[in-house]
Amino acid sequence: MLNRRAFLKAGLTTGAALVPVNSAFAEMDPAALAADEPAAKSPAQLVALPARLEPVDQAALPWQQRVRRVGQTNMTEHDPAVMNIEEWADYWHQAKADVVFISVTGILAFYPSRVPFHRHGKFLHDRDFFGECVAAAKKRGMRVVARMSPDLNWDDALAAHPEWAMRFKDGGVQRSGEDPRLFKTCMFSTYMDDYIPAIMREVSSLYDVDCFYTNGWPPLGSLPDCHCAICSKLPPSGTPAYWRAFDDRVFALWQRYDAIAKEKKPDSFFFANLGGNVHGGPNLHRLGSIAAWFQADNQGRTFDDAAIWGCSLQGRVCSAIMDGKFAANVTAAYSTGTPGWRNSSKNPEEARMWLNETLASGMAPYFHFVGAENGFGEDRRWQAVGTEFFHWAAEHDSQLCNRRSIANIGVVMGQSTQLLYPGPGAVRTRDYMHHTTQGIYDALLRGRFAFDFVHEERLEPERLARYRALILPNIAMLTNLQCDQIRAFARSGGSIMASFETSLYDENLNPRDDFALADLFGMHRAGAVVGTNGNPYYARIEAPGAPQPHPILDGFTDTNWLPGAENRIPLAPIADPLLTVVPGFVRYPPELAYPPVSHTTEPAVVLRESGSSRTAYFPGDIEHTYWLTGHGDLLRLLHNTIRWITHDERVVEVDGDGFVEMFCWETERGYAIHLLNYTNPDAQHGWLQSTFPLGRQTVRMKLPPGVQIRAVDLLRASQPVDFTVDEGTLSFVIPRVADYEVAAITIA
Ligand SMILES: [Zn+2]
Repeated sequence: MLNRRAFLKAGLTTGAALVPVNSAFAEMDPAALAADEPAAKSPAQLVALPARLEPVDQAALPWQQRVRRVGQTNMTEHDPAVMNIEEWADYWHQAKADVVFISVTGILAFYPSRVPFHRHGKFLHDRDFFGECVAAAKKRGMRVVARMSPDLNWDDALAAHPEWAMRFKDGGVQRSGEDPRLFKTCMFSTYMDDYIPAIMREVSSLYDVDCFYTNGWPPLGSLPDCHCAICSKLPPSGTPAYWRAFDDRVFALWQRYDAIAKEKKPDSFFFANLGGNVHGGPNLHRLGSIAAWFQADNQGRTFDDAAIWGCSLQGRVCSAIMDGKFAANVTAAYSTGTPGWRNSSKNPEEARMWLNETLASGMAPYFHFVGAENGFGEDRRWQAVGTEFFHWAAEHDSQLCNRRSIANIGVVMGQSTQLLYPGPGAVRTRDYMHHTTQGIYDALLRGRFAFDFVHEERLEPERLARYRALILPNIAMLTNLQCDQIRAFARSGGSIMASFETSLYDENLNPRDDFALADLFGMHRAGAVVGTNGNPYYARIEAPGAPQPHPILDGFTDTNWLPGAENRIPLAPIADPLLTVVPGFVRYPPELAYPPVSHTTEPAVVLRESGSSRTAYFPGDIEHTYWLTGHGDLLRLLHNTIRWITHDERVVEVDGDGFVEMFCWETERGYAIHLLNYTNPDAQHGWLQSTFPLGRQTVRMKLPPGVQIRAVDLLRASQPVDFTVDEGTLSFVIPRVADYEVAAITIA
């Protein structure tokens, strides 16, 4: 009689055909299983960290790779009349900013520009304000980004170039919502081909700037909707075909501007506003291949996007597409939100956490206030927050040089699904995938799993080899090639958890008759999406109270069913399902709140294993529903399933109380464990008002062969900690975490 472990080993060596897991267990002797398995949940298995990367010569890296801190006082039209340039430059210099953004703009010139329609600010009076700022920064050894804004212009430009404007369907000009004197420029027009290059070349000819940047373009998170003469020949906005045309244009302009930036200095470059986290705007995979600097314009939490991890989520997106190239996240020192005060400091605790998240997730901190008149006059409170954080970070630059993240789970981002898929039902809403992403993110944080994001166009075997498992949280749109890559990952022993409409649409958002990955998961679609009216469906446990429940049912006792999800795809029956669907029914009135059909053969989860590869597919939108409800059963089911597909393997274990986000990096000098303390009543709404420190956190990781540890230092607490290495496993305790702690592990 095979026990469970022997069965798994047999599966490994014989390459056993895919077998529904439950039926395999059904053949086993329960007594043998009980004897083999400990009663309590077994502790996670630590797997050794990968062999260390070869060291790199930091001095040989492009200059932007060595930037650690970025500062920006975002200049207003009035600043040339009132800004004290020396005071401005002194602030950023003493804060240890390596580079500052200085406005050239495009909406208003901050220097005596001769480019037609580059209107001089009304307080400029032909003064070379930009040039004086550049000189003051350079005198102090700071590099300079020339900041442009190509998104808006004035009526004199419109009169001469009506073709520059974004248009409504009726031909009307699209204007700034806040100041209708400005019209919105169309990125497909010659405004971008002629006007912006003219400004870049003029600036290059007059000043020593290090690179060029465009604010306000490309658009983030959603696609433009313009009906000008050019755009009306493009596919309709919001469609996959439009997205490709948009991407082609962004890519072409980016390369063109980059070439112009390099005309004067070969180490110069162009970069543009990015961000938008998993939505992005332009195709992030494509841009990642050419971008020298990822500028994450992701400045703070809002009412609609209230989760505290908004910045670190963006950091994971940057890691997914930049391959270790430079990324910076802009932290607004001013008050983000709706309404938001652009010229008033935000809570210091909130600003500091955003900076913490920036650094923890592998980006360079970047502090930003709008207006020198405001930032050095009306409200100066942000300055101390920036100085203190930048000074602390500067002290530890050498411990914060990341080489790569340490993670064993890859979460597929699905950028096209995030941007283009409308969600189930008729209403197109960005909230649907937003909730899905937040649901899986929250679950992974609470389970303290080490994970990366993976872009759907980066599923090549060499990129996936580092992951034990892939998670596809309703990644509806997948190409046939991407599905083949996912299958190959499973064939090579990788595990997969997926949900709901994953693989049900192709790259053109055309629905498929059946899941493209039906063969991998061993299931078939049997109907259209079923939503909720009253009680959502339940998932009936097919063998409640079994002596050896399946590991994904760990902890579910005294119940015959579990909550299902808000929406599901009906599946055809499978052999020996673990959970079956009890269809939704009336919730009110309570007289009718009982299931007319209390048992079906429709599976509520499909599990398989082949060798070391395990797959789990949930037909319900479980992550989305978890985010909407916070239901602990859904969280437990997700955690159990992730533990099962990963064989409970971990690359780093951080054990302790509290809600934290964890990052683990291989660094130049060793490793760094970053812990962000989100245990706070303000974690999901508004801003942090104060900090609630955590107690002991025990860290364990298994070192690669030959790696010796010299020291473990807590960078926020400024103290070394004792550590042990036992049979290659490093252990130490972080006694306390205030808002943030970094355990820097220095190798010998
Ligand atoms: Zn247009």
